[in-house]
Amino acid sequence: MSILVKGGLIVTQNWKREVVRGDVLVENGMIAGVGHVKARPDETIDAGGCIVMPGLINCHTHVSMALMRSVADDVRLDKFLEKTFAIDAKRTSEDIGVGATLGCLEMARSGTTTFVDLYYSEDIIAKSVEQVGLRGYLGWAVLDEKFTTQKGKPVKNCENFIKAHKGRPLIRPIVAPQGVYVCSDDTLMQAKELAQKEKTFCHYHLSETRPEVYEYQKKTGKRPVEHLADIGFLSKGDIAAHCVWLTLNEVRLLAEAGVSIAHCPTSNMKLASGGVAPLPEMFKENVNVSLGTDGCSSNNGLDMFLEMKFASLLQKSSRWDASVLPAQKCLDLATLGAAKALGAEKELGSVEVGKKADLVVLDCMRPSMLPVSSENAVSNLVYASPSPAVRDTIVDGKFVLRDKKIVNLDECAFLLKAEDSAKDLMAKVKAT
Ligand SMILES: [Zn+2]
Repeated sequence: MSILVKGGLIVTQNWKREVVRGDVLVENGMIAGVGHVKARPDETIDAGGCIVMPGLINCHTHVSMALMRSVADDVRLDKFLEKTFAIDAKRTSEDIGVGATLGCLEMARSGTTTFVDLYYSEDIIAKSVEQVGLRGYLGWAVLDEKFTTQKGKPVKNCENFIKAHKGRPLIRPIVAPQGVYVCSDDTLMQAKELAQKEKTFCHYHLSETRPEVYEYQKKTGKRPVEHLADIGFLSKGDIAAHCVWLTLNEVRLLAEAGVSIAHCPTSNMKLASGGVAPLPEMFKENVNVSLGTDGCSSNNGLDMFLEMKFASLLQKSSRWDASVLPAQKCLDLATLGAAKALGAEKELGSVEVGKKADLVVLDCMRPSMLPVSSENAVSNLVYASPSPAVRDTIVDGKFVLRDKKIVNLDECAFLLKAEDSAKDLMAKVKAT
C-alpha cells in the first residue's frame, strides 16, 4: 500500500529543520520519499495549500478521563482529587473504554499520532487505541496495595498486561508507578525490575506540587528526586511527568540518570501548581524534554498544538523573556524530544525517509492559518492554534482521519453513546 501526499509545505523536522515544498511518499507504513518524488503510488492525495508535518506525540495523559472532561474546574488540587476520585469510583469498564475512544478521537482530530498513558485497565484502553488507529505507549499504574482500587497486586496486573500486549504494532506496554506519594521504595523498585525484565520503561508523576515535595521531605529527609537517585530507582529511558518543583541539583540528577521530562504546562497552570518547570535549566543540563496534556479533567483537552503554545507562553511570562522557548524549540519538544523520550528517535518525530509514516496534513486555506510560508509555518503551528485545520492524520501509513472524517469507526454514533455514558455516570455519582 503506497500513498503520495503531493505538493504540501513539508515541515520536515530533519536535522536542518527544513521546511520545503514537495511530496511525501508512504510505502508499507514507512516514509519512502520526501521532496520531488517520482513514484506510481496506489493513491495520491493533494496537499496543495497544506502543511505536512510529523504527528505530534503527547508524552503524558490519562486518556480515558476524556469522559470526565470539565468535572472539577476552578478548585484547589485537594478538592479536584476528591471530585475526580468520587467519579472514578463509579466508573465501569465500559465507561473506561468509551472515555479512551473519545480521547483517541480528539487526538486524531488534533494531530496527535502517539501518546503515553498512565492508568489502570490499560487492556481496555488498548482496544480503543487499536480501534481508532493511534500509537499508544500504555502504562499500567503500579502503586502500594493499600492505596489502590485494583483487584489483585498492581505490579502483577501490570506484568500480565505487558505479557498480553507485547509485540502488537500500535501498542507498547510500559510500567507506570503512579508517584512517590502512593509508592513505597519497595513498590518503586519492583516496578523498575519489571520494566528491566520486560525491556520497557517506567513512566511516573514526579514533583508536581509543593506539598507533595515537602511531605516527602518530611518522610524521607530528602527531596523526591534525591531520594529516588539514592535508592537507585531513576533509570535511563524513564519519563517523569510534571517536574515542576525541582532544585538545580535535582535537574542534574535527572540528567545524569537519563530520565526524560514530560512537561504539562496547561495542567500545572490550571491546578495552580504554583511553580513553573525549569525548562531553561533542563536544556542547559541536557535533560531531554517532551510535552504532555495530562488528563481531560485537569486540562479539559488533549490538544498538543495548544500545549506547545502554552509551554512557550508560560516560560516567556515567568522569565520575562520573549526569546525563551521559541516556536521551533516547542515543536522540537512535541516531536523529536518526545520520540527520544520514547527511545524511538530512529522511528518517530520527523518526516524523513526510513521513519514510520505518522503524518498530519493541515489545510491552511482558512483565515486563522494565513498567511503561510516556509518562513512562518512553524510559528503558525505553535502560536495560531491550528487544530481545526487538521485535515488528515496518518498513523503507520494508514489514514485514521481523512478529509476530516474519522476512518475506523462511526464517529457520530459513538459520540451519542459517549454523551449517554457520561450522563449515566454523573447521575450515579449524584445519587451517592
Ligand atoms: Zn497525570
